[in-house]
Amino acid sequence: MQKQRRVDLAFDQQHIWHPYTSTVTPLPCYPVTEANGVYLTLEDGTQLIDGMSSWWSAIHGYNNPQLTAAAKTQLDKMSHVMFGGITHQPAVDLCKKLVAITPQGLDTVFLADSGSVAVEVALKMALQYWHAKGEPRAKFLTLSHGYHGDTFAAMSVTDPDNSMHSIYKGFLPQHIFADSPQCGFWEQWDENDIGDFSNKLAHNHQHIAAVILEPIVQGAGGMRLYHPTYLRRVRELCDHYGVLLIADEIAVGFGRTGKLFACEHAEISPDILCVGKALTGGYMTLSAVITQKSIADTVCSGEAGCFMHGPTFMGNPLACAVANANLELLEQNKWQQQVAAIENQLANELPQIATLEKVKQVRWLGAIGVIELHQPVDMVAIQQAFVNAGVWIRPFGRLVYIMPPYIITSSQLSSLTQAIYQVLNI
Ligand SMILES: *Cc1c(COP(=O)(O)O)cnc(C)c1O
Repeated sequence: MQKQRRVDLAFDQQHIWHPYTSTVTPLPCYPVTEANGVYLTLEDGTQLIDGMSSWWSAIHGYNNPQLTAAAKTQLDKMSHVMFGGITHQPAVDLCKKLVAITPQGLDTVFLADSGSVAVEVALKMALQYWHAKGEPRAKFLTLSHGYHGDTFAAMSVTDPDNSMHSIYKGFLPQHIFADSPQCGFWEQWDENDIGDFSNKLAHNHQHIAAVILEPIVQGAGGMRLYHPTYLRRVRELCDHYGVLLIADEIAVGFGRTGKLFACEHAEISPDILCVGKALTGGYMTLSAVITQKSIADTVCSGEAGCFMHGPTFMGNPLACAVANANLELLEQNKWQQQVAAIENQLANELPQIATLEKVKQVRWLGAIGVIELHQPVDMVAIQQAFVNAGVWIRPFGRLVYIMPPYIITSSQLSSLTQAIYQVLNI
């Protein structure tokens, strides 16, 4: 066996940016050398149970035999070929599957590079749609505490406080933010909850190209789980005023909330759907924007004569092949039992954590567990404490949360919840 070289952590600290980190005070990073099933293996051999699915993506766990085989088989045929004027089986297979499994009416697919780019594409579609109708509109209505990505248009519809719009003032377009839903997923619906959204839409609808929101779960903007009736009302109001609805299912699509798509909790179809993260089961970056043929046709009937977007790596065959294998695994339908079992276990085990002094509230839905604290965590200390406890959990702000791979066993999931209890009980 080849002797493994050690990861050069000093170089990493001095020269490499990690997500949302400072070069002035770089935080420690843990070198991972392998990942299998629900385990991340650190360089020193320590095995950690993964509670994050690498940010919602590795739903079937790491190094899944089918996904790895799909990547290897495709690699031997072709890794990439341009999508302009060329097509290929992996893309056609994938788009067929996406059309079949996504909510009703969505039948036209745009393949994009990442979640943020999918959001850009969706927003551009909405703008071109109204432009083509001869009724240009430049505003979007969205929700406080939302998160839609890090590129400029995506940032402009992300919660202004969380994403610090002030830094980019003068550069970011100003959109309209409605109060985020207050009614929790499991709570009694209160009709007042939709009041602010309803007012803002009523007063501004002539200028609004689309509503964009994360259905049911507001992720990076606060891990808030809201009532399906809120989403149903949003659909009704968008229909009433003739405004497009964009559902950003980049985090929650593909089973995470207990439904294949979170929109299904409210039995609604958006006009434009964004998926990403778990699309390739966490193997590589790929996203998709799916809309109705009639909307696509309107977009293309405008002055431009086409939709004005086409990234270099559009429809990357390698990513499409892995995504196909990922959707085949989902089609086998084990995810439903797996996610239901995780939800049951979270319902049994999180309330104990809620008794801790530091904890303000616990909440869960599907394979998502959230522990909201009174105070922000000390990242360096808590990260090390979790690693010492044999788990990989990466909190942010006042939130400790888990969304493990669906294949996690009951005892592995208990290790996660016990580690949280233990680490917060000091
Ligand atoms: C992660 C995320 C994005 C951005 O996706 P990237 O692949 O990180 O660009 C957009 N919307 C939601 C809801 C997300 O969770």
